[in-house]
Amino acid sequence: MPTVLVVEDEKDIREVLRRYLERAGFSVLTTPSGAEALRLLPSADLVVLDLGLPDVDGTDILREIHRLGSLPVIVLTARSSTEDRIRGLELGADDYVTKPFSPHELVLRVQAVLHRFGGVPAADAAASYGDGRLRIDPGLHKAWLDGNLLDLTPTEWDLLDAVAASPGRVYSRYELVNRVRGYEYAGYERTIDSHVKNLRRKLGPGAAEVVETVTGVGYRLGLHRDERT
Ligand code: CA
Repeated sequence: MPTVLVVEDEKDIREVLRRYLERAGFSVLTTPSGAEALRLLPSADLVVLDLGLPDVDGTDILREIHRLGSLPVIVLTARSSTEDRIRGLELGADDYVTKPFSPHELVLRVQAVLHRFGGVPAADAAASYGDGRLRIDPGLHKAWLDGNLLDLTPTEWDLLDAVAASPGRVYSRYELVNRVRGYEYAGYERTIDSHVKNLRRKLGPGAAEVVETVTGVGYRLGLHRDERT
């Protein structure tokens, strides 16, 4: 599933967007910090960017996104701020949402922009991995291994869902914390290890090959994604 990076210093907006985007089947990264956003850009398939950030000028982030190539951006602007709109347009944003906005409308725009950029898988479609061994249904928030429904805590489910976003790709603890908890919990990187341990216990025998440890780096899904049928 595509990953949306939400860069927004207002916590309430970040949280509501996370909730709506996740419900629509997206993997979501959030940060209130422009500096952090620059670090997270390579992990994103689309960026929702508030131009009015406290630490870095949003238009500098737009420039950096542009430099990286074809990463779609939806800019959030304050109602009064027409200059933001104009600056954003000049710097090549793909769409605009003016505050206050409906989160549902923003999700629709994210889907529309991603569609324009080469297609977005149907939201909520269950994905299957390792020739059907593992199935993950983001709509239902449920996962099955070898046909058995896994009894996962929300954190464990999020972890599994996060590494499954891109099978084989290694996710650092930092990135997993961000995906599972949001930027506010950045100090908790080590707790990821205990959540992974619990997740593996529930996965049962063979768990170490489903969620693999990459020593010194992080974790990855060890199963390939099956072709959609
Ligand atoms: Ca702001």
